[in-house]
Amino acid sequence: MARDTGIRAKLSLLATLLLLGAQTGFSAVRFDFPTREPGRCQAAVGVSAMPGGALELAASGGRRLAQGSLVWRAERSDIALSVVELEAVSQIPAGCRLSWDVRAVRSSDGHLTDWQTLAPGVRLPLEAPADAVQLRVTLGSSNPAASPLVTRVTLVCYSAEVVAPLASSSNEECPVGGNGGGAATYPEPPDISGPIVAVEPPPIVGRETWGSRAPREAYEALNPGKLTVHHSSEPRAAHCRGCGTIRGIQAYHMHERGWNDIAYHYLIAPDGTVYQGRPEGANGSHSRPNRHKLGICVLGNFNRGEERISPSARASLVRLLAYLAGKYGISSRAIYGHRDFNSTDCPGDTLYGALSALRADVERTIRRAEQPHAASQRAATGAAQPGREL
Ligand SMILES: [Zn+2]
Repeated sequence: MARDTGIRAKLSLLATLLLLGAQTGFSAVRFDFPTREPGRCQAAVGVSAMPGGALELAASGGRRLAQGSLVWRAERSDIALSVVELEAVSQIPAGCRLSWDVRAVRSSDGHLTDWQTLAPGVRLPLEAPADAVQLRVTLGSSNPAASPLVTRVTLVCYSAEVVAPLASSSNEECPVGGNGGGAATYPEPPDISGPIVAVEPPPIVGRETWGSRAPREAYEALNPGKLTVHHSSEPRAAHCRGCGTIRGIQAYHMHERGWNDIAYHYLIAPDGTVYQGRPEGANGSHSRPNRHKLGICVLGNFNRGEERISPSARASLVRLLAYLAGKYGISSRAIYGHRDFNSTDCPGDTLYGALSALRADVERTIRRAEQPHAASQRAATGAAQPGREL
């Protein structure tokens, strides 16, 4: 009798799984990428494996190399792959960083897409469906005595765009980029289910109001899918002077850096005022590759021992991120710091270290349809109120 019940339970579980697969129309495959033998991968420069098998930066004359990278051989699948998610176990000591890229491979003719940056725990749609994928890791260190360590790398590939969460990610996953305090992890976002909802925008000072110049040429189009947080480093928060500061940043970006326009899509002053940079539909110049990324710069220097983000600026940042996440259907997990993509300290250790809490605040906001009465009124009149604290 007991045995009967057990079989029935197993059959019931199997039926549920089959039904789930039929309803959601996806299948998944996992690829484990070896870390023990860099020399047997497709390409490895400046990396070696520890005796235990963890990947690390190679050493020369007792000093670690500043950068190294490894490209694994392409992994083939019988299913058409559309979405990938990285599971990585790594340690990122202070001064070290890690970044990950994936590309789709069509094995019939060897066609390769461009590399796409991905972060652990974030599902990424491939540029084109493919029957094979290739993964690259880049290790970096500004400390000759330290190296990032990568001990386990798995790429979970889905056959179709997966919207609903399938399974929670491993708590062992690490972000790309250090937080200055040893191994860093992204905690799971709060367990709040439900669709992402539209959130009212914060008051925004438009380009005309702050006295923007026109861009040099037509913008490249942008389809937002990620939110990237920066700090200005210079000017420091203490030196910000309203619209004149924004004009100064634009002039620097256009005339000194030679860019088409101010780099970012939004800038947030220490008093919480939000300034429009490039239009949201325009490709920015803030973190390579800029494609799919909206860039938000908090004015100030948030490196350790420097300035701290003001409560007003932080509140505006949460509100702006929630507004953009709701508008474009972007998960709070797709909020990054600039250093997640490029070799830079930006947005400073302090602000980078606060990103987990910011993601949680954004998650709460976009799940509960927060629509403050005052914000609704402002939106109705179309009035932006520079300098107003949120
Ligand atoms: Zn930056």
